[in-house]
Amino acid sequence: MPKSSQVDSQEPLIQIQNLNVEYRTVRGAVRAVENVSFDLYPNEVFGLAGESGCGKTTIANAMTRLLKPPAYITGGKLMFRDIDILQLDAERLRAFRWDQLAIVFQSAMNALNPVLTIGNQIIDAMQAHQAISYAEARSHAKRLLRTVGIDVARVDSYPHQLSGGMRQRAVIAIALALNPELIIMDEPTTALDVVVQKQILQEIKDLREQFGFSILFITHDLSLLVEISDRIGIMYAGKFVEAGPAREIFSDPKHPYTNRLMNSFPTVHGPRRELLGIPGAPPDLIDPPAGCRFHPRCELAIAGECERIVPPLIRIGGQRDVACHLVKEAEAAS
Ligand code: SF4
Repeated sequence: MPKSSQVDSQEPLIQIQNLNVEYRTVRGAVRAVENVSFDLYPNEVFGLAGESGCGKTTIANAMTRLLKPPAYITGGKLMFRDIDILQLDAERLRAFRWDQLAIVFQSAMNALNPVLTIGNQIIDAMQAHQAISYAEARSHAKRLLRTVGIDVARVDSYPHQLSGGMRQRAVIAIALALNPELIIMDEPTTALDVVVQKQILQEIKDLREQFGFSILFITHDLSLLVEISDRIGIMYAGKFVEAGPAREIFSDPKHPYTNRLMNSFPTVHGPRRELLGIPGAPPDLIDPPAGCRFHPRCELAIAGECERIVPPLIRIGGQRDVACHLVKEAEAAS
């Protein structure tokens, strides 16, 4: 697992700078992602958390250039080492998507081809991008299935013959087929029951140790994210409100939204506690609230300030970034 010192000393695998994405609708532009910046390092798990519609999946789709109109990237830079992702032509983009990164979505059933066996789906992926014989690819497919905890006898099974957990493992096996440097996992365990969710989370951790890839892990469940991530970015209404090492955020959340989000889900480990939830609903991003976008839902809002002034994302020490007037005032006072 990358430690803080590694993050400081390594070159980033991914650099996202001031990313802006909007969806153009008849009602106006939905500002889905605004000025988001973060780096992701080799062999690191970076987690993105926030409620539905906060922009996390839009970031993943922007990184993979999967956004289609009415979604538009209106600003920013997306670099994969020295590759400028936004400048890739169609052919280089196709190779990039397979060779450098892989994506695991929430619904394995949608990601898998229902008329092909899972073995053949792994073999197809390998043969489309590597000079490898059918026999070699099949033997590698079996190895991958074993690696993700599927009995190799299942190599000739169709997706509908597998359980939900096995299907999700099969999708992870396909993602690993070309040995990518980065795997984007968008709610990979959300559709599964808690026991299978824990098993797959542990397998993802083990696979990362074994293969050394980086992961961008996206979920609305912050307690799950803390289990797997080295660092976390918390998003609210299209913006980062807090970012930093996962354990530090878990033990000492600085932003009121992070605090509420943490209290919205039961922990995977640890004592039972009352779940509080977050009052109200996320804002309309065609016309978001002025000042801090969280202020209509924030019980700590400072009257006269929070509804007028946008809190900047500031570094408060170490690798912790927070966008909240309360934190800024506490820092200034210390
Ligand atoms: Fe709450 Fe104000 Fe901080 Fe926003 S800036 S989270 S409204 S205290």
